[in-house]
Parts: sequence; C-alpha cells; structure tokens
Amino acid sequence: MNETTLPPSDWPELKPGCVWLCGAGPGDPGLLTLHALNALRQADVVVHDALVSDAILDWAPQAERIFAGKRGGKPSAKQADISLRLVALARAGKRVLRLKGGDPFVFGRGGEEAQTLVQHGVPFRIVPGISAGIGGLAYAGIPVTHREVNQSVTFLTGHDQTGEAPGSIDWEAVSKGAQVLVVYMGIKHAPVIAAALLAAGRPADEPVAVVSNATLPGQKVLETTLGHMVADIATARIEPPAILCIGRNVLMRQALDWQSMAAGAAPRDLDPLGRDTA
Ligand code: SAH
Repeated sequence: MNETTLPPSDWPELKPGCVWLCGAGPGDPGLLTLHALNALRQADVVVHDALVSDAILDWAPQAERIFAGKRGGKPSAKQADISLRLVALARAGKRVLRLKGGDPFVFGRGGEEAQTLVQHGVPFRIVPGISAGIGGLAYAGIPVTHREVNQSVTFLTGHDQTGEAPGSIDWEAVSKGAQVLVVYMGIKHAPVIAAALLAAGRPADEPVAVVSNATLPGQKVLETTLGHMVADIATARIEPPAILCIGRNVLMRQALDWQSMAAGAAPRDLDPLGRDTA
C-alpha cells in the first residue's frame, strides 16, 4: 500500500466504539474524500456494500472486511440486520467504518442506519461522498447543470423498497416540472420509466445518457433518446450499476467527453447546444 501522509495532526480520530458512516464515491478510489481515507486507515472493521471496490478496501489492510450488500442478484442482507450489526460491532469496542457507494445519504439508506445508531446511543460521524448521479456523469463529460439548459435537477430512484418502480412518484408532475432527471437504479424498470415520461408528454427525442460503472475502468456510456432508450439499453447490454440522465445537458458530452479526448479523440461538436455564437 502507498504511504501517504495526511495533512497535519487535527484529523478526527475514529475511536473504539464509534461508527463512521462514510461515502466511498462512485468507484474511482481517487474520488474518496480525505475523511474517508482517514477512516480507512484507522478502522478495525469495514462494513461495505457491493459498490465499494477492492481497490478502495485495500486502503485498510489492517481491517476486517464484512460484506453487507447485494451480489449476483441474491437478496441483500436485511437493512435492520446490517444496522444492528453496526451497533454490535461498536459495542464490542471496534472502530467501525461503514462504507457505502457514492454518498451515504443519497438513495443509500444511510439515514436509516444512522437512526439505529442514535436509538442505541452509539456515537457516529457522517462522511459525505461524491454521488454517482453527479460525479459519475462528470466522468462521462456531462455537467449535471449547465446554465443554458437547466436551473434545477431532479434525482429519482428507479425502484422503491418493494423492488417495483416507485409508486409514490407523480410522473406527470416530474415530466412537467423536472428540467433534467437523474435516475438511480433505473435499468430494471427503464421500460416503465420511459413509458411514464413519454405518456406524460416528455418528447421522444429528448437526449438520454446511460452511464454504467461510472468512474471505473469498465465505464460505458450510451447516448440515446427517451424514445429509444429501452431498446438501446438492451442492444448495448448495459448492466447495473448505471445512472440515467434525461435532459439536454446530455448533449454537452459531445464537446466535453474528456476521457475520449485524453485518449486522442477530437470533440465532436464544440457547440452541441446549437447556440448562435456569432
Ligand atoms: N449512495 C449511492 C447510490 C446508491 S443506489 C450514490 O450516492 O451514488 C445504487 C445506484 O447508484 C446504482 O443502481 C446506480 O444507479 C448508482 N451507481 C452507483 N455507483 C455507480 C457507478 N459507479 N456507475 C453508475 N451508477 C452508479
């Protein structure tokens, strides 16, 4: 492991009996925060999700690893069990790092785990992370806001606790009100989501990007439209984890696909929004 020295001394100590609930970012270890790195170096035990890669866990060679997540389509460990496990580990005097993909409070059930810690009187700290719906899009060359496109962003989940497309979303309202939509966990129910948005009046030619394994070596970006997205996801065999971004900001990738440019490609269109630059 690389020896890195964190800047001077006043970094918080992960004390025995405490839990730090940390975001690990979307995948690229370089997108960890310094607080997350500081936690990795102190933890006795790291309780992590499937989205946290070995490259990140390797920063904590001293720590026991406990996997608490979904893998290979098997049902996830029950949320209550995970939360109580954190309590038990803390009560056993461990320095506990609970590491979750992206940001723990963005579709990550971090709030539920923190509530359980509060109920059991376990001291904890929250360390935010870079969420896939922002940082993952940035790695695809898509700014989640762009002044000439959107002044708001709507973050949605593609399924709820039951695993179904979320029944509580008012698709009519979203369709009318949301300038740019960023959908987490949207692959499985992409057909329902696309149909609901189209039925509510969203144009079929609206640009869509699907970014899978964002920030990781296996990152794939599919550029499509709302009307074609379902067929194109199937043809391109896009698998979770993936973010769907629906909106004209997606066009900016034509100019800002910095990863392809770094690999030698020229930008496709310096003014993808078609503005009059005269
Ligand atoms: N707390 C996480 C989200 C957890 S929900 C965050 O803030 O990013 C899991 C979903 O996040 C996945 O289904 C996918 O939609 C998205 N996701 C997480 N990591 C991703 C990645 N590297 N690439 C694309 N999508 C990702």
